[in-house]
Amino acid sequence: MYTLASRGQRGQSVVDVGGVRFGEGFVIIAGPCAIEDAWQIDQAARGASSAGAAMLRGGAFKPRTSPYSFQGLGEEAVGRIARAAAKYRLPTVVEALAEAHVAYLAPRVTMMQIGARNMQNFALLRAVARAGAPVLLKRGPAATLDELLYAAEYLLVEGNEAVVLCERGVRGFDPHTRNLFDLAGALRLKELTHLPVIVDPSHATGRRSLIAPLVFAAAAAGLDGAMVEVHPNPAVARSDGEQALDPPSFEALMTRLGTLLAFAGGSNGPAKVASAAGR
Ligand code: PEP
Ligand code: MN
Repeated sequence: MYTLASRGQRGQSVVDVGGVRFGEGFVIIAGPCAIEDAWQIDQAARGASSAGAAMLRGGAFKPRTSPYSFQGLGEEAVGRIARAAAKYRLPTVVEALAEAHVAYLAPRVTMMQIGARNMQNFALLRAVARAGAPVLLKRGPAATLDELLYAAEYLLVEGNEAVVLCERGVRGFDPHTRNLFDLAGALRLKELTHLPVIVDPSHATGRRSLIAPLVFAAAAAGLDGAMVEVHPNPAVARSDGEQALDPPSFEALMTRLGTLLAFAGGSNGPAKVASAAGR
């Protein structure tokens, strides 16, 4: 049994990530699929920050289906997101694709991501947990909820309690959405575990038109946040442009989310959009 991840008699855990508190308000993480040039990540960070996102995301080491696709700019990209994050005072989340990346990332990012394809890479889970940074653990595209919680247990058993889970869609049968967004599964997770649970409608659907309504659904349902791909010019993005919002669309999403959460205040759902500390 995943005893450390189980909800049991415990209340909701709050995971602090550079002052952003997952498990209290509704946390929005925004940023590009991949970190490209310095201007791109600066503009993405600017758009994220001005619209009220709490954290900045960006991939440096990309888990691409094809080896011929853009693989990310590696360590150079980590420096770029660190500079943009410092400028706009946003904590960062960056994926560790392999054990070899962990030591480099740990002192340079606020949170490390385990991507969906690596959810059951147990050696990587242990290495990331031991590095001590908070971890964003994404559900594998064909993983059951129990398998996700056992993967979380690998992190917790190493003594790292700063774990946030992310539902990013599972393999479905209909090509109209990239994956099948499992909202019920995310809600069931909240019953099974004390860990915060967020959603990623960009990777779940592959379509920018579906991002905002699914963020609103997750917030209304009482989940703990959402991660959204935002690119200053999605038409020229080197990866996942079709599922990225541009900064004006992201700002519109955030404005509407604020209104919806204010309206929902006092119910069981989170009453407000969480912000980055000190801003
Ligand atoms: C990502 O968030 O950068 C990503 C590659 O997502 P996933 O691992 O869910 O496919
Ligand atoms: Mn992506």
